Amino acid sequence: MASNTKYIFITGGVTSSLGKGIIAASLGKLLQARGFKVTIQKFDPYLNIDPGTLNPYEHGECYVTDDGAETDLDLGHYERFLNIPTSQDNNITTGRIYNNVITKERKGEFLGKTVQVIPHITDEIKANFYKLGEEGKFDVVITEIGGCVGDIESLPFIEAVRQAKWDLGANNFLVIHLTLIPYLKAAKELKTKPTQHSVKQLLEAGIQPDILVCRTEHHLPSEVKKKLALFCNVQLNSVIEAMDADSIYDVPLLMKKEKLDERVMTKLKLSSKENTDLENWKDFLGKLKNPTQEVNIGLIGKYISLPDAYKSIIEAFTHAGASIECEVNLRLISSEEINSENIIQKFTDLDGIVVAPGFGERGFEGKIETVKYARENNIPFLGICLGMQVAVIEYARNVLKLKTANSTEMDADTPDPVIALMEEQKNIDQMGGTMRLGSYACDLKKGSKAFQAYGKSKIHERHRHRYEFNNEYLTRMEEGGLVATGKNPETGLVEIVEVKGHPWFVGVQFHPEYKSTVLTPQPLFVKFIQAAIDKKIK
Ligand code: GLN
Repeated sequence: MASNTKYIFITGGVTSSLGKGIIAASLGKLLQARGFKVTIQKFDPYLNIDPGTLNPYEHGECYVTDDGAETDLDLGHYERFLNIPTSQDNNITTGRIYNNVITKERKGEFLGKTVQVIPHITDEIKANFYKLGEEGKFDVVITEIGGCVGDIESLPFIEAVRQAKWDLGANNFLVIHLTLIPYLKAAKELKTKPTQHSVKQLLEAGIQPDILVCRTEHHLPSEVKKKLALFCNVQLNSVIEAMDADSIYDVPLLMKKEKLDERVMTKLKLSSKENTDLENWKDFLGKLKNPTQEVNIGLIGKYISLPDAYKSIIEAFTHAGASIECEVNLRLISSEEINSENIIQKFTDLDGIVVAPGFGERGFEGKIETVKYARENNIPFLGICLGMQVAVIEYARNVLKLKTANSTEMDADTPDPVIALMEEQKNIDQMGGTMRLGSYACDLKKGSKAFQAYGKSKIHERHRHRYEFNNEYLTRMEEGGLVATGKNPETGLVEIVEVKGHPWFVGVQFHPEYKSTVLTPQPLFVKFIQAAIDKKIK
């Protein structure tokens, strides 16, 4: 075990959705701003090996890393805040832990022993807790434990955290418990009891939290803080208030004001680097909050009742908009509700249109209508993954007059499969982790919109798809005006298409949103917003 690395564990109590991921990312940001090398990992208690097979309605979008891991969306927050890539090692589920242990058991690695939750599952959990720290690249590893204290599912994780203190030593180990202080309107009172109970549950499991971070709608008066300190057995200055914020990007500064980073450094005996360098961050916030222009963008997809399903796209618009001081009013519109009759009325005040990634047939024809509208009316258009595939199909149907053109995902027997299953996908029978995943290179055509955006000819972006542009149609498409402006240099797979003569029409097979961060807004999003501004001015 790397002895110099400090480990911070973040648990949650009272309810889910308190924003452990944002607190973890904010603390990471503050420590990073003081010069420490930080990574954040998430341990999820569910039995899926990874969230790749989950419907977005379960836990929000599936985030994809450079190395092709399908992960929890909190990893997106870690990257957006820390500006460094994560990997498969940053997201572990109970399913993966059990799979590893059972695979070892089948290989006979336990030498005849009875394989049990303690110590075998907990040992496997701990080995994964320490894995990134052992690489010697990080001063601090923050581990977010998914779910709530007291859930049956998270018990082995909590037990492993208890044991980790003995492996690591008290000065290298810290537990932060994120909890909720509800406000009872009728009594006009903030209530500490749920927090007391959830800390009791942690204590029963043998864990004394070092710091309480308390989510609240109202400032915590000192008597409430005192009560929490007394009943939960923590120092008074370790009761940290986490007020609801306007933007998730305010949270690092709020946590700094509350001295969360200082408390952590004192407890972990991390020698203080006095000056926090948050100038870039503040610059971003300044622009975010003082836009000089605004645009209306329609995001067309089928999971719109849960915006978390499009988390990275929404955040990419925040970063890109702020970089050019433009407020982006993102309107999520269900593709199922769009048809040729109502589209004009629905889209009348949109300055730009995005067709979102997705799977399956539901709402597909509404997406075709959407692309047609954007193409024919010169509305700036960005198609992402399925959105790009729809653009190709729409072009084939309405411009090349291949009336029944389709993707074989939607119609396996289409006479014109302009989007078809990739060769290596044809014999796959397992769904999990088998798409074309992760970072691949793409060469850009000089003079294209994509080239103008990136300002270079070789880029790398992340992927998550099974179907692709069918190159048998490439010549016909290009002659007809839909040009492939980005291609994979090794396989020739089409990565980007653009409509000739349109002010800004770009479809990308990859997911540009995954690499957008506060400090490095994604160039396609920036240029797309700029095109929307230009359209509005005209
Ligand atoms: N369903 C499409 C495919 O598998 C697009 C995937 C996506 O949008 N992420 O290729």
